[in-house]
Amino acid sequence: MASTLRDDLVTNDHASIETAASAILRSCCRCGQEFQSSSRELVCSDCRKPKLTRQLSFREKQIVDLVRQAKANKEIAFDLHLSEGTVKEYMNRIFRKLEVKSRTELAIWALTESH
Ligand SMILES: [Zn+2]
Repeated sequence: MASTLRDDLVTNDHASIETAASAILRSCCRCGQEFQSSSRELVCSDCRKPKLTRQLSFREKQIVDLVRQAKANKEIAFDLHLSEGTVKEYMNRIFRKLEVKSRTELAIWALTESH
């Protein structure tokens, strides 16, 4: 049994060296879709993209929701019992995370993205 196990290990090593040398078609371990893998990537490029909605904290989602309702920072601050400065900080963080430049873009993002 011990020698069989060793043979398996050698075979596996050989296979991974070949994988590193040339691009192969691999099926993504998350979505199962076939993709070109040039290294040891196990997931396709789509699955490697961050899921934006998941990056937002509960509080950030609340703020996005209020921006979608066209509320001003002052109103958002009032609704969430925060200071206006804190809301601005949250806004900047959300802008960076979602790669948007304005609250208008953020509102559009919120309308098109299901979350
Ligand atoms: Zn995938």
